[in-house]
Amino acid sequence: MATDAVFKKMPLVGTFNIVFGIVGLVVSLILCFVFLPLGLICLFGAIIFLAVGIKGVQGAWIGSCPYCGRPKVEISKEPGAANCPKCKQRVICDNGAFYTLKEISER
Ligand SMILES: [Zn+2]
Repeated sequence: MATDAVFKKMPLVGTFNIVFGIVGLVVSLILCFVFLPLGLICLFGAIIFLAVGIKGVQGAWIGSCPYCGRPKVEISKEPGAANCPKCKQRVICDNGAFYTLKEISER
């Protein structure tokens, strides 16, 4: 059954994460020259912060899975699609609601 979705944006948290990620990138590059393994670990962390930050600034549609009902399934744009993290089924976002593939093809 189709479920309602809400568009969520976290510009403040996102911006903070991006700034933190950029600072982390610079620090990890310096660390790479001092001690390579530690630099690489920091680089990895910085990239995660950047990715989370960019996602927060762009926003995403959040709703529950129309197949298994798992809450907090995220789809970055509308119309768009993503796989449910729990049941791995394809969830389609359209017009502010999440649909199953079958529901989309029957409309
Ligand atoms: Zn699911």
